[in-house]
Amino acid sequence: MNAPTILGTHAPVLGRAADFPILSRPVQGRRLVYLDNGATTQKPIQVIEAERQFYEQSNANIHRGVHWLSQHATDLYEQGRERVRSLLNAARHEEIVFTRGTTEAINLVAFSWGLSALKQGDEIILTGMEHHSNIVPWQLLCERTGAVLRVVPVTDSGELDMDSYRALLGSRTRLVGVTHISNALGTINPVAEMIRLAHEVGAKVLVDGAQAVAHEVVDVQALDCDFYAFSGHKLYGPTGIGALYARYDILKDMQPWQGGGDMIHTVSFERSTYADVPQRFEAGTPNIAGVVGLDAAIRYVQEIGLDVIAAYEQSLLSIATAQLEQLPGIRLIGTAAHKAGILSFVVDGIHPHDLGTILDMEGVAIRAGHHCAMPLMTRFGIPGTARASFALYNTQEDIDALIAGLRKAQKLFGTGPQDD
Ligand code: PLP
Repeated sequence: MNAPTILGTHAPVLGRAADFPILSRPVQGRRLVYLDNGATTQKPIQVIEAERQFYEQSNANIHRGVHWLSQHATDLYEQGRERVRSLLNAARHEEIVFTRGTTEAINLVAFSWGLSALKQGDEIILTGMEHHSNIVPWQLLCERTGAVLRVVPVTDSGELDMDSYRALLGSRTRLVGVTHISNALGTINPVAEMIRLAHEVGAKVLVDGAQAVAHEVVDVQALDCDFYAFSGHKLYGPTGIGALYARYDILKDMQPWQGGGDMIHTVSFERSTYADVPQRFEAGTPNIAGVVGLDAAIRYVQEIGLDVIAAYEQSLLSIATAQLEQLPGIRLIGTAAHKAGILSFVVDGIHPHDLGTILDMEGVAIRAGHHCAMPLMTRFGIPGTARASFALYNTQEDIDALIAGLRKAQKLFGTGPQDD
């Protein structure tokens, strides 16, 4: 096979798999080859230890206690907010609201900003490659406000049709919701350009960064976006924690969407007043240990360098793409010029779920299905794809195992070359 190989230029990333304890456990009696990173990433020992240490040494509720431990836990929580600010290069830490993840962050924008900003006839532009979590909240909002959805079509190569986007933008557009990187195709969308165009018509832009923050440098000030959402668990951090970035001048005027402790200034039975941002949007006891784990995860990727990680994953992508293209009967879904380390494909004569099951028996974990992007699957006329998605700990060996598993599946189904 003449495909390119990974050379020693990626020294800061190579060998990092040793930091991830789960990668040394066998699965189905085989070495685990984890290629389902688009769904969730594995956690380095630094993150696992940070959470354990929090419960061992620092656990208390935050913001409300006068005792030392509560102050200490509060400091760790707020340090986590500062870490997220630095990850996204936000101008101020007040612009970071902790949420359960991307989904909750988008719902927050829909039901806080959206409910008061939108009215009958207003338009929300989404793209044809959005994850369900950047579709359904806006549909719910449209039902309540009478606003309508418009959708940017996706080309055969899995890119956004920018001419259609320009044509859709207009005086009725209030919001554009776009994924930074498509979880189902790997396409890196031209979000900076889309934001610039949306701002020309006075619309706000929400970027779904779920697939981006672990795979490239994100700078919300350079992008000039209004909202940016991400999940910690796709960034080597814990589940159940994520964040919303919202520009201060927008966030400070947004109304609460959930009520409870910690988000108030005063409460009486006649009327309550609300805390300043971001606390106004963090009702109840938050996921404090999750923030501590997320902080550790961000420190982990910052220490390696997100630019270094991005370059390494680009190498994995080009090697895997070259090798996949040499297999007969395989069609890549998503061949955009700018892609992140996600390979979606269909194999002649084998359902993606069967493929996933056969690969699993080889210890290779991929995802098979619609990837929570049903409209996109409909666009391509397929029920789903098989998806291999890379992270910093994946190696050439992992790609070899994927290719060997695919060959085996084709042999079993009698659809590929039978002689090797
Ligand atoms: N947006 C994209 C592009 C995703 O890939 C995902 C998760 O797969 C989400 C949103 C939802 O993320 P979460 O389930 O962590 O809220």
